Amino acid sequence: VTMAEENDCLFCKIAAGQIPSTKVYEDDTVYAFEDINPVSEVHVLVIPKKHYPNAAAVASADPQLFAHIVETAQAIADKRCDGAFHLLFNTGEAAGQTVFHCHAHVLGGKPDAAKLV
Ligand code: 5GP
Ligand code: ZN
Repeated sequence: VTMAEENDCLFCKIAAGQIPSTKVYEDDTVYAFEDINPVSEVHVLVIPKKHYPNAAAVASADPQLFAHIVETAQAIADKRCDGAFHLLFNTGEAAGQTVFHCHAHVLGGKPDAAKLV
């Protein structure tokens, strides 16, 4: 990943605190925040602080970091929706990925009915 890519990356900026977000959890390697356009009662994004374009790139470069993203998602769901959740990684433009910095959608609780139409 080039510096230019990271400088232009929305989620690198959110992880660095250069763009405001509603923080849910943070440690040395991951950052979790509320999705700006939630599609269910719980809709949190968990991202690695380091830039990777998608989930598989994280998993192959740093399996421990990938495991930490999954465990962070579980811990958030444990607190917010009794541990039950969907873990979603949109990968590729055709599958709806719009931000090319790996992010796990943690989706729990009731879906937002208005967004299912
Ligand atoms: P994707 O479609 O790439 O899987 O998901 C991108 C997600 O990021 C979307 O659910 C969208 O609502 C969310 N998002 C996009 N821009 C921002 C932002 O500036 N702040 C926050 N908190 N979420 C964002
Ligand atoms: Zn990034």
